[in-house]
Amino acid sequence: SQGEQSRRQLEFEVEKRTREIIDANQRLTAIDNKRRQFLADLSHELRTPLTIIRGEAQVTLRQSDTDLQTYRQTLDTVLAQAVSLSRLVDDLLLLARAEISQLVLDFEQCNVAQWLEGQMEHWLRFARDHRLHWAVDPSVENCLIRADSQRLAQVLAILIDNACKYSPTGSSIHVSASANDNGVSFIIKDEGEGIAPSDVGHVFERFVRISRKGEGAGLGLAIAKTIVDAHGGDIHVDSLQREGSTFTIWLPRESLT
Ligand code: ADP
Repeated sequence: SQGEQSRRQLEFEVEKRTREIIDANQRLTAIDNKRRQFLADLSHELRTPLTIIRGEAQVTLRQSDTDLQTYRQTLDTVLAQAVSLSRLVDDLLLLARAEISQLVLDFEQCNVAQWLEGQMEHWLRFARDHRLHWAVDPSVENCLIRADSQRLAQVLAILIDNACKYSPTGSSIHVSASANDNGVSFIIKDEGEGIAPSDVGHVFERFVRISRKGEGAGLGLAIAKTIVDAHGGDIHVDSLQREGSTFTIWLPRESLT
């Protein structure tokens, strides 16, 4: 009957809405857990350098016959920890600004080949413990992108720095660029420890550290992704354990319209 039909319709509606509420609740719980984890990780990262600064200062002040040399050593440690704290705060600020869409990028027209050449000049001098190779495909000639070149340099620095950190001394790191009509791809490839398949999907999240070899807070790749996203680009990684990792950044070409 019609009554029966509308009752069924109503039951169906109630069931559907209930499911929606349960789903929404689960999503909120997941977000809340992430937020808690984030705060716990953050507290830990802030605490470590602060503990060292306090400890060093206290010990040095307590000694009655501290010589100048010891004072200097203490100050060196305090300075190093303060520098790492500043870096952490800068990184967090960048991520926080991006989250509320207030990351201000200084966009300018950028010639990809020239930009990369400038960057690699620096890295060839810097990454001495590895064999650093780089190559620019002819397709990149005259390729222009709209980019914040300093922020982009930060992305490259994070990826090359990681490639060095997570691969053995003397191994090769290859950096290359190629372009097509839509955009330009940068590839940073190492022969290091690689990333396990179960971890590979998480490396771009904040505070994720897998091998614990590096001294970083696990924010590097989150920052790299944030900057690349802000350029309308894409970053991803292909990795095989014990064979190495290949990070690819794609950025759109400057549109001529
Ligand atoms: P971290 O400060 O720990 O280097 P990142 O966000 O830069 O933080 O990287 C997150 C994690 O991803 C690292 O702790 C490391 O385990 C893994 N990782 C990043 N780059 C590489 C790489 N080139 N090879 C292997 N593992 C990597």
